Amino acid sequence: MAKTYQGGCHCGAVRFECDLEPDAETSRCDCSICAKGRFWKTIARKEAFRLLQGADMLTEYQFGNGIIHHCFCRKCGIKPFGRGTLEALGGVFYGVNVACLDGDAPQEFAAREIVFQDGRNNDWSRPPVETRHL
Ligand SMILES: [Zn+2]
Repeated sequence: MAKTYQGGCHCGAVRFECDLEPDAETSRCDCSICAKGRFWKTIARKEAFRLLQGADMLTEYQFGNGIIHHCFCRKCGIKPFGRGTLEALGGVFYGVNVACLDGDAPQEFAAREIVFQDGRNNDWSRPPVETRHL
């Protein structure tokens, strides 16, 4: 049964909640933006994600093909989540920043397997050769 987690940016302007299954996979990727931000994500379906406050404080960054909206707080700069639409992920999805979840949730997810993805080579089904920097 899914559990509801709350989270937010650093300054608290942006708050969200998402429903995650107990076996929700988390991942780190070496694509150009995930590597620089050390983005640690889990995927939430559209209906499992709710922005609670701070829509007016969110701004977005897009690059490349523009599929992903990298959403970050205009006050503190933290990226609590990204949003996109990919058929492979069932349409609209949110890439939730696990490090932005409240309380012990990051420790809870860190205790499980973390999947590494070679986004740099557009090969998300395989880990990159080096993962220590992610
Ligand atoms: Zn903020």
